[in-house]
Amino acid sequence: MSDNGPFSIFGGASPTAPPPSPGAPGGHLDPADWDAFRASLHQVVDEMVDRFQDEGTGPVWQAIPESVHQEFTEPLPRAPRPLDSVLDRVRRDVLPYTLGNTHPRFFGWVHGSGTPVGALAELLAACMNANTGGRHHAPILVEDQVVNWIRRLFDFPEEATGLVVSGTSMATVVGLAVARHRATRGLDRKEGLRDGPPLVGYTTRDGHQSIRDAFSLLGLGASALRAVPMLDDGSMDPVALERRITEDVHAGRKPFAVIATAGSVTCGAIDDLVRIREICRDHGLWMHVDAAFGAAARLSPQLAPRLDGIETADSIAFDFHKWFHVPYDAGFVLVRDGRLHTATFGGREDYLTSLGQGPGSGDIWPCDLGPELSRGFRAFKVWFTLQTLGADAIGEAVERNVRQARSLARMVDREPELERLGPADLNIVSFRYRAEGRGNAELNELNREILLEIQERGIALPSPIRRDEAFGIRVCLCNHRTHDSDLRLLVKAVLELGRSLVPVG
Ligand SMILES: *Cc1c(COP(=O)(O)O)cnc(C)c1O
Repeated sequence: MSDNGPFSIFGGASPTAPPPSPGAPGGHLDPADWDAFRASLHQVVDEMVDRFQDEGTGPVWQAIPESVHQEFTEPLPRAPRPLDSVLDRVRRDVLPYTLGNTHPRFFGWVHGSGTPVGALAELLAACMNANTGGRHHAPILVEDQVVNWIRRLFDFPEEATGLVVSGTSMATVVGLAVARHRATRGLDRKEGLRDGPPLVGYTTRDGHQSIRDAFSLLGLGASALRAVPMLDDGSMDPVALERRITEDVHAGRKPFAVIATAGSVTCGAIDDLVRIREICRDHGLWMHVDAAFGAAARLSPQLAPRLDGIETADSIAFDFHKWFHVPYDAGFVLVRDGRLHTATFGGREDYLTSLGQGPGSGDIWPCDLGPELSRGFRAFKVWFTLQTLGADAIGEAVERNVRQARSLARMVDREPELERLGPADLNIVSFRYRAEGRGNAELNELNREILLEIQERGIALPSPIRRDEAFGIRVCLCNHRTHDSDLRLLVKAVLELGRSLVPVG
């Protein structure tokens, strides 16, 4: 080794740069005292492990006091503050007031519950600070491997492309952008949607809000998304779908895509994907599947057959941050026709030209598959979680939730004071408290009160549902920490509150 050390352009070592004096004036941003930083970090890690271990001992949610609200009105700090004082503020003002989706009795909306290994992955990813827009570095290989795993999980061909995105909302935008590109024969990118008959697509009334948003964002307009009637189980009525398609064609519109749902937010309904594929084939339509949480059923050999037909989709959108329990946020879009996918988003500026080798190399960069150039390293926590826990364990947690939903539905059905609202075939159960001689409006008010009491006392966190005219309590089991006893506790609380709120006599 020469005097210059290993990193000089001449192959020698360069003298190590003198350490900056961070925290000191002059914009040094690394810690001034590494030992103190290390100690604070270790302490935080210990506290977070305790938090994970104690999960479930406190209230699910608690109201944020006015004093804490006030703390969040402070202006932009100009001067540095000691790390430990900022950490104390986090301990006081933030950590106690999270939504509660890491708690075993969180049953609201569709939220993942995360894992300790996922949190560890987040810390590592933050330390690497990788930008995965493209170029040649190991983080790109990590995402490639995730893409390969998912491609195989869904039996997609080798040409299929995939992209880790923020969530299913973005995944649906990407999937439908490719569908639009196909329907306009590529004119959308340059000309926009000026010419030709209006494009229309199909989902159900229970189809997710994000699909309508995607239609707006893609310039199709939300009214170009048809709400196809549903069957009693909440799935799309294929006969009605065909009828709507035919009507639109006769009216001079151009049907281009069906957005099937595999796991609806209202009741976990799964559309008949095999039948929808046939209809799409017959009419030359793109089949996109919103499998935001339902996709995780594919990890369970017992539940996977419920998603039959998903392997024939043109694009699939789903979340890692829901039933896969990877920490927020991480979703995924898988596109069967990789060529079409790159044609929709590819084409880089000159300064992003790939070199044949070195850090600037690589054919298809993630930025060629979606609208984002700079991207964080979301794929890492997915890769790390799947490796550490194994896909089977996640699949088993999914199965357990489905079993729990079934047993909750049975509990509800057994109680004369409770009434189930809608089907409960997957992981979502909705019900309401019933009282003799009360009209629907009174029952709605009563159930609203019961739900709020349960939420505000921190007993559990179900969310509201409106089915037809009935207001109900919706329990979504998307939580690997939930025990059967948590569900019994919820049912008991609903019954007790219902009885206490209905004056006797
Ligand atoms: C959550 C969800 C979405 C939206 O996904 P995000 O990750 O919130 O963007 C879409 N469809 C369904 C069925 C969902 O549950």
